[in-house]
Amino acid sequence: MKCYLCGLDAQQDMSPMGKLVTCRDCGTYKISEIVLRELGSRKLNFSKMRDDLHRQRQYNATSVAEINSETAIWG
Ligand SMILES: [Zn+2]
Repeated sequence: MKCYLCGLDAQQDMSPMGKLVTCRDCGTYKISEIVLRELGSRKLNFSKMRDDLHRQRQYNATSVAEINSETAIWG
């Protein structure tokens, strides 16, 4: 599968209410079902979204960074 942010090969695992993506470039993040559905009609803002994932990791190092309806930044 491809990373939803950068498009490189990434590992994807099922996660409650979405997917867990491990990309060697973007790191590990959770993406919610709602955002996955919306990706059919619009695209995430790659650089802003990556910055936000980085910010989430700094803010809370113990939980996985998430792309959900609240954190998604659309391009
Ligand atoms: Zn990536």
